[in-house]
Amino acid sequence: MSYTVAIVGRPNVGKSTLFNRFLEQRKAIVDDISGVTRDRQYGIAEWNGKPFNLIDTGGFVPQSDDIFEVEIRKQVKIAVEEANAIVFMVDVATGITDLDDAMADMLRRSTKPVYLVVNKVDNGQCELDATEFYSLGFETIYTVSSISGAGTGELLDAIVAPI
Ligand code: GDP
Ligand code: MG
Repeated sequence: MSYTVAIVGRPNVGKSTLFNRFLEQRKAIVDDISGVTRDRQYGIAEWNGKPFNLIDTGGFVPQSDDIFEVEIRKQVKIAVEEANAIVFMVDVATGITDLDDAMADMLRRSTKPVYLVVNKVDNGQCELDATEFYSLGFETIYTVSSISGAGTGELLDAIVAPI
């Protein structure tokens, strides 16, 4: 069985840092899907003996704000279609932005599991600040530091639970 998890979120929240941390093996991008995947990275991760495919989205950052929002919406749509579960990443250092709100609106409608991950929670103060993200309307928030790895074990436990 193949299970796919996509990491979405606006630029600079730390998606690629988490992707690289979770990665065991990088998969070559298949040519015939490269039209949609040129700005995405695919890899294989594993936790508790359960392998899953991981997609890092949004490597391409458009120059204009309008195109930017359109592109992000496209990424989220593709991710939701292509993946079995979504890691929706936000950043405690910047707090909630309009784009986070827009993405949350799209993702709350998903029938697939969405894990709201508050990244850059590097210390206890950040842990307190992270509670503001409950207002995005998800039941659980996972606080992590992708750089140190703090909190990522709990997140991985949740991700592989349905596998
Ligand atoms: P992406 O654009 O969402 O893929 O974000 P990146 O993974 O490229 O990270 C953006 C910036 O955030 C980089 O400078 C990272 O080093 C930094 N970053 C990522 N995770 C953390 C974290 O847990 N704590 C802190 N303080 N910085 C982080
Ligand atoms: Mg990235």
